[in-house]
Amino acid sequence: MCFYVSFQLADVILSEVLHGADGTDIRCGVIGEIGTSWPITDSEKKVLQAAAHAQKQLGCPVLIHPGRNNAAPKELIRILQEAGGDVSKTTMCHLDRTIYDPAELLEFAKLGSYLEYDLFGTEMLNYPFNLKVDMPSDSQRIQTLAFLIKEGYEDKLLIAHDIHTKNRLTKYGGHGYSHILNNIVPKMLTRGITQTQVDKILIHNPKAFLAFK
Ligand SMILES: [Zn+2]
Repeated sequence: MCFYVSFQLADVILSEVLHGADGTDIRCGVIGEIGTSWPITDSEKKVLQAAAHAQKQLGCPVLIHPGRNNAAPKELIRILQEAGGDVSKTTMCHLDRTIYDPAELLEFAKLGSYLEYDLFGTEMLNYPFNLKVDMPSDSQRIQTLAFLIKEGYEDKLLIAHDIHTKNRLTKYGGHGYSHILNNIVPKMLTRGITQTQVDKILIHNPKAFLAFK
């Protein structure tokens, strides 16, 4: 029953990619961001399995929003793979608020998905959804990127701002969409990350991720 529902959902996704979404002829180029909680709910699992079925047929990129627990990313990759998805065409979002321990991060990186640090510009003391978590700063995000590059993952890194509130737009006094280009890249270049590696993160990795297989 569970798989039947996920195959029906997969048909909806397939149609949106091949023919168009919401009654238009505008086709989706990426599946996601697939939202999940911790622990994952049955409905979320079905949606993730459906995304995996569609990805298997289309070779398209999938983005996953992990639940707020360090065990979530690994579990989500397992579910995706068991349903036939392609880890090498999948991005795990919000790693900055999900996996903090370096050894655990490397263990996850080995699974082969894209590793996304997408909360650049978010500077706060604690993660508001889990006050026990010390929220990393932009400087710490850059240190983590440098660490993952040193460990051989420069082809798997993606970064973003995840701007989802008005106060982060320049109009409302925020850092706006140019924060990464204006402030983060110059700092990356002074923290052991080369221009070639910056270009991979900003141009080549997104291009490779977004291309259909
Ligand atoms: Zn998200």
